[in-house]
Amino acid sequence: MDQYLEIDPWNIIETEFRPEKQRESESIFSLGNGMMGQRANFEEQYSGDSLRGSYIAGVYYPDKTKVGWWKIGYPEYFAKVVNSVNWIGIDVEIDGEPLDLAQWQVTSFKRLLNMKEGYLERTFTAENEAGKEVDVRAVRFLSMADKEAGAIRYSVTPTNFEGVIRFIPYLNADVENEDANWDEKFWDPVSTKIGLNRGYVTSKTKKTEFHVTAAMEYRLTVDGKDIDVTGETEEREMYVSHAVEHEAMQGQTVTLEKYVAVLSSLNHPKDEIQKNSAEVLDRVGRKGFDLMMQEQAERWTEIWDNSDIIIEGDAEAQQGIRFNIFQLNQTYTGEDERLNIGPKGFTGEKYGGVTYWDTEAYALPFYLCTAPQEVARNLLLYRYRHLEKAIENAEKLGFGDGAALYPMVTINGEECHNEWEITFEEIHRNGAMVYAIYNYIRHTGDREYMADYGLEVLIGVARFWSQRITFSEHKQKYVMLGVTGPNEYENNVNNNWYTNYLSNWCLRYTIEMLEMVKQQYPEKYETVIAKTGFDPEEEVPHWKDILARMYFPRDDKRDIYLQQELYLDKEQRMAADLDKSQRPINQHWSWDRILRSCFIKQPDTLMGMYLFEDHFDIEVIKRHFDFYEPRTVHESSLSPCVHSIQAARLGYEKRAYELYLRTARLDLDDYNEEVDEGLHITSMAGTWMSIVEGFAGKRVTDEGRLSIRPMLPSEWEAFEFKILYRDNMLKVRIDGGQVSVHCEKGEGLELLIYDELHEVTPESPAEVNKEEIKVS
Ligand code: BGC
Repeated sequence: MDQYLEIDPWNIIETEFRPEKQRESESIFSLGNGMMGQRANFEEQYSGDSLRGSYIAGVYYPDKTKVGWWKIGYPEYFAKVVNSVNWIGIDVEIDGEPLDLAQWQVTSFKRLLNMKEGYLERTFTAENEAGKEVDVRAVRFLSMADKEAGAIRYSVTPTNFEGVIRFIPYLNADVENEDANWDEKFWDPVSTKIGLNRGYVTSKTKKTEFHVTAAMEYRLTVDGKDIDVTGETEEREMYVSHAVEHEAMQGQTVTLEKYVAVLSSLNHPKDEIQKNSAEVLDRVGRKGFDLMMQEQAERWTEIWDNSDIIIEGDAEAQQGIRFNIFQLNQTYTGEDERLNIGPKGFTGEKYGGVTYWDTEAYALPFYLCTAPQEVARNLLLYRYRHLEKAIENAEKLGFGDGAALYPMVTINGEECHNEWEITFEEIHRNGAMVYAIYNYIRHTGDREYMADYGLEVLIGVARFWSQRITFSEHKQKYVMLGVTGPNEYENNVNNNWYTNYLSNWCLRYTIEMLEMVKQQYPEKYETVIAKTGFDPEEEVPHWKDILARMYFPRDDKRDIYLQQELYLDKEQRMAADLDKSQRPINQHWSWDRILRSCFIKQPDTLMGMYLFEDHFDIEVIKRHFDFYEPRTVHESSLSPCVHSIQAARLGYEKRAYELYLRTARLDLDDYNEEVDEGLHITSMAGTWMSIVEGFAGKRVTDEGRLSIRPMLPSEWEAFEFKILYRDNMLKVRIDGGQVSVHCEKGEGLELLIYDELHEVTPESPAEVNKEEIKVS
């Protein structure tokens, strides 16, 4: 772990140029606006090590699957949100010499990500061999107000000489992915155009034929005054540029403003895309840089108004949580139901920018509480729209009659994952789709969603479980064979408790919801029945039989459920006894050794007890936590947050805080030494959960009642957050021994604080004083 960033409540700051950290910083300082995103690459040429990355939500390439041994059922391709047109490029020449920080001597350097207002700023002073020194300031952002636009202001001041400052703003769609399976390029040219102060490049993805147009316009100013932009243009395949220059006096600041529009055929007809990009440029060009930046700050103020968490007395924790919230909002803004949240968002190539169960299990709760209801609803609709594909996916594996298996990894509904033990076996993901619907309805009260969309998904998933679960003559019980639970350090196990439990809950919930929709939305019920060909008389009795006779592996001696039938046959060891040099085990041990060990990658049985906390007495959860937690190595970024929430609930306050720390600054402090690959976006939502569900103990009961039971880590003086709950915006503050809940918008509601009912109205907050809420 190498902490090289400054601690600051609203900014991420790097004060030294460290070429060996370039990839890490490119991830950390990433920008996005939900519609596109990019790593924090330099605008000017840079010959040092770097991963160039600029991504457009929903624009993907189906990269042909590459595996050693093909298995029937593997998908043909892995969809990747591709590295696309580099639109930030501005090559800079000083008296004919390229400005390149890998070649020049950098005497001062500062990179700053302003999270409050949503922009990236870089200032540096550099000197070439001849001793010519320049000051540079570059500011850029991806507009939250004009989601298809971005802007850059790049200023150069010669400090000890007079000479020619030449800018070459360009657009370059001739780009590659480092992780291409077959070293192929993913883009084909369509057209280029360059005029007096505008340029366009249109390219299309191979196979999927997404057209993307990037358009640029620029202004040159000297000490703030416009000057004419004349100069040489260059146009070649997938590239346009326009060199503009000025003979600058010593101390004069020459600035290039570059406005960019990036449009894709996801949102525009292919034959209008260039015209439409010109319109976006007209619009943002009229606004100009300062007004665009002001709008950017206003949009971010609105976002922070809903989603900020304030931590007093712990600057590192404050910065950590804001960074997580900032990156989540940069990744997904929720207007478009075709988009989703990749585990690394737009910050790197790993995981291909595509969707995992992380969205339903981890990201949904964050958006439910911090964004308007449509945002979470759009996340659900994404999966609803993929139901047909989930049915096809199940058919490919030999299931039928409308059984649906949602993919492990997808962008368009088709499975992309290609390791048999996960693709075919990590089927618990199917339950997460149903749980997300349940969670959404419990939080919002929008039961009609179930009638309109949810029930169809429930029926498909329940049908899958009823076919995947088989009857064991030997046990005289229903069993589920050959699965991988959330703990990917065990594969092909029988009767994974989590999957068995979740599948049974899905069946029970589907039966209940069939009844609810039948009673409350009879017409819609008939529509769903007709559409799915569902026969309650035929299908439900079998489900009920499964529910009555399902097998759940147990150890009676310890009085716990077993992660899987043979878990106790493994040598029982504690993670704390592992030699430090062996951690993380996934980087030191053979896969075979990991699979045979008892070590758990991420919550599995405990995941079930987290999702279904209400189903178990606190003593039962404690017993399971005490057994499984010490065996867990937390080698998935999705792991510590769930354990932290449970530790908080069980009163293991210190452990709750330790586990929280592991998630909160995971990327900023690069705990896992992999931030160069991109940020852990979905686990960032888990960090938010550790505070809101962990330290504040937020829950929603089955009846839809909000409940909190806060505690205050001893490192903190106070913390405060807002949640949107059924048209109410509540501000919850835990300050010393006092808990207060204010209703900032809405009519107010009744909620439970430490299990006692309180009323909150806009006029009267609820307040509870408690001596002992600080973590000792
Ligand atoms: C975890 C999965 C997760 C994936 C993407 C894996 O390491 O084990 O649960 O879905 O990462 O975040």
